[in-house]
Amino acid sequence: MKFYQNLKIGNKLLLINIIPASLAMLILVTSIAAIILLSSRNSLIQEITNQAYMLGESLAASIAFNDFQSAETILAALHWSPHIQQVVVVDTAGKIFAAYPRSPVDGFDQTASVSDYFTEIRVQHVIQISTQTLGEIYIDATLDPIYLQLRKFALFALLALIVACALGILMLKRMQLNLIRPIVELTDYMRMISSTNDYSLRFHLGNNDELGELATGFNAMLDKIESHRINLDHELLRRKEAESRLHQFAYFDNVTRLPNRHYFKERLENIVNATLKHNTCCCVMLIDLDDFKHVNDTLGHHVGDELLFAVAQRLNQDLREGDVLCRIGGDEFAMILENTQNTRQVELIAERVINKLSLPFMLSGKEVFIGASIGASFCPDDTTDIPTLLRNADNAMYSAKNRGKNHCLIYKPEMETKSMKRFTLEHALRRALEQKELFLLYQPLIDIHRNQVIGFEALVRWRNPSLGMINTSDFIPIAEEIGLIVPIGEFVLRTACAQMRDWKNRYGFEGIISVNISGRQLTKPGIVENIAAIAQTAGLPYQQLMIELTESILMDHSQETLDKLEKLNQLGFSIAVDDFGTGYSSMSYLKRYPLKSLKIDRSFIADLPEKSNDVAITKAIIAMGRSLGMKITAEGVEAPQQLDFLIKHQCDIVQGFYYGAPMSAEQAERFITGTPPPKPDKN
Ligand code: C2E
Ligand code: MG
Ligand code: MG
Repeated sequence: MKFYQNLKIGNKLLLINIIPASLAMLILVTSIAAIILLSSRNSLIQEITNQAYMLGESLAASIAFNDFQSAETILAALHWSPHIQQVVVVDTAGKIFAAYPRSPVDGFDQTASVSDYFTEIRVQHVIQISTQTLGEIYIDATLDPIYLQLRKFALFALLALIVACALGILMLKRMQLNLIRPIVELTDYMRMISSTNDYSLRFHLGNNDELGELATGFNAMLDKIESHRINLDHELLRRKEAESRLHQFAYFDNVTRLPNRHYFKERLENIVNATLKHNTCCCVMLIDLDDFKHVNDTLGHHVGDELLFAVAQRLNQDLREGDVLCRIGGDEFAMILENTQNTRQVELIAERVINKLSLPFMLSGKEVFIGASIGASFCPDDTTDIPTLLRNADNAMYSAKNRGKNHCLIYKPEMETKSMKRFTLEHALRRALEQKELFLLYQPLIDIHRNQVIGFEALVRWRNPSLGMINTSDFIPIAEEIGLIVPIGEFVLRTACAQMRDWKNRYGFEGIISVNISGRQLTKPGIVENIAAIAQTAGLPYQQLMIELTESILMDHSQETLDKLEKLNQLGFSIAVDDFGTGYSSMSYLKRYPLKSLKIDRSFIADLPEKSNDVAITKAIIAMGRSLGMKITAEGVEAPQQLDFLIKHQCDIVQGFYYGAPMSAEQAERFITGTPPPKPDKN
C-alpha cells in the first residue's frame, strides 16, 4: 500500500488500468482453459469408449479361440494413440488375457478406479459374442496431451497479455498525458514557488473541469498568500521600526540624539570590566552646564533644547576613537574615556571642552553664552566600583561648580564632605518651609536727598535647628535648581505684604516693600495674578510693591516676559533691575521693559570713590538710568565716602550696612517710627 501511495500519479493510473484488465484477461484465459480441459476430457472418454467397443469386437474371436497372439497384435495397433497408457484384457475368470503394452502392468487391479480425475481416465467394456460374455477390456488413458495443448494455449495467452499490456500502457500513457500534464505542471509551479518564494507567479490553465477549478483555487490561494505576505512584510517592517524606535527611546536621548543614561550605564559596566581585565585605566567625566536652567527659564525650553543639541555637537567633535559621550540628565553630559594615561591628559581634554563650550552659541538669532563644570574620576585609581566611580565624578563636578564654574576638577577624597553638605542642605531645605524655618529680614531703602526711609527690601533667611543659619548664597541656588524657589518666593511675598499691612495699620507706614522674584518664579503661569492676589489679600496697594528682577531674567526677550511685566506695570507694581551691571552686556532690554528702578550692584559701589573704573561705571549707570526716567538705587553702601559720591552724582536711593544691615521686623520698626537713620559722617 505504501508502495502504491508513493507512486507518481501517472503510474497509479497505469496500475489502476492495467491490473484489473490483466486480471480480467487472466480470468478469461483460465475459464477458457477449464472449458477446453473439460470438453477435451469428455471427448477423450467418448473416443476411448468407442475404441473399447471396437477393440472388444475385434478381440472377441481371439478370446474365443484363446489366440492371445492375435489379441496382442490387435492391441499393438494402439500405439498411435497419444492418450492410451494401458489396455488390459481379462477373461471371465479375471485373468489377464492380453495387455498393451505387452508386459502387463503388475498387480493390475480391475476393480480400482482412476486415481486422479484431472490426469487420467479409465474406460471398461465387456467383450461379448451374442449374449455370451468372454471377458472385459480396460483402457487407461492419460490427459497429458490435453495439458500440453493447454500449456501452449496458456503460453500464447500470456504472450497476448504482455503484448496487450504493452499496447495498453502505451495507449494509456498517451491518453493520460492530457489529464496528468496540468497536475504535473501545477506541482512544478508549486515547487518553484516554494523554492523561490515568488508568490506573484500564477498558473494558467484553460480547462473548465476540476483541474481548471484547482488551478483557479491555486491562484486564489496565491493571491491570499501574497496579500498576507505583503501585510506580513508591512507588519514586520512596522515591528522592526517600532523595535528600533523603542531601542532609540530606550538608549538614546531625543533632544541631543546622544546615547542616554541607560546606555551610559551599560557601556560603563563593559568598559570598567575591560579595564580591569586588561589592567588599563579609564575615566568618567561628568560635564554639567553652568546656568543652563537660566537659559531655559529665560529664553524658553525650545532654545534650551537647541542649546543642548549644539553642546552635544561640539562635545562630539573632540571625541577620540572609543570614547563614549552620553546625555545623562537635563544639562548633564558624561564621557567615558578609555585607556587614559594620566590625569594631565584628562585635564587637557576637559580644558578643551570648557574652551569649546565657552564660545558663544547662536540660537534662534540670539547669542547665548554658557559654561561647564567638569568632574572626573578614574578607574581603578579612585575605585573599581561603578556607583562609587559615578559618585566621585559627581562630587568632583559639584566641587568644580562651587569653585565658580567653568572648571574641571579631578576627584579627591576630601570632596566627599562638600557634596555631603549640599546633599544635607537640599534634604533639609525641602522641609524648611513646613518646619517654619524660613523668615524674613528687612533692609532699609534710604532716600539720600531727603535722608528718609522710603521702604525695605525683604530678604529671606533660613535657620535650621541642627545646621544653624544658612547663607542665602548657599541655599537660594539650590532652591532655584530644585524648584523650591517658587513656594519660598510665595512665602516671602505673602510675609512681606502682610508685614507692610501691619506697619500701615500700626504706624501708618506706606513705604515700598521690595521683593526679589527669581526667573523660575516669573516663568510660572499665572504669576502676575498670583502676585496681585497676594498683595490684595494683604490689603497692600499695588504701588507699594517693588519687584526686583535680575538682569539675566530681563535678557529673555520673549513676548511672554514682556506681557507679564507690562501687566504688572499696568496694575501699578514697580519693577526694579537688581544687581545691575553684573549680567549681560546688552542693554537693549532697558528700553523694552517698563522698568521703574535700577539697583547698581554693590561690586561697583565697594571701591568708590577710589577706583576710577567703578567711578566711571557708576556715573554712567546713574546718567543712563536718569535719562530713561528710572530711580537709581545703590546697593552695598557701607562707607560715608561712598554715600558722598552717590549724593554728589544724583543717585536717588541707597541700601547698605551704612544705614542698616538686613534686620528683623521689630528692628525695622525703629526706622519707621522715626528714629532717624544715622547721618553720614562727612569726616
Ligand atoms: P540682593 O537682592 O542683591 O540682596 C542684597 C544683598 O546684599 C543681601 O544679601 C544683603 O544682605 C546684601 N547687602 C546689603 N547691604 C550690604 C552691604 O552694605 N555690604 C554687603 N557686603 N552686603 C550687603 P543676602 O540677603 O545674603 O541676599 C543675597 C541674594 O540672595 C540677594 O541679593 C537676592 O538675589 C537673593 N535673595 C535674598 N532673598 C531672596 C528672596 O526672598 N527671593 C529670591 N528670589 N532671592 C533672594
Ligand atoms: Mg534684591
Ligand atoms: Mg542686589
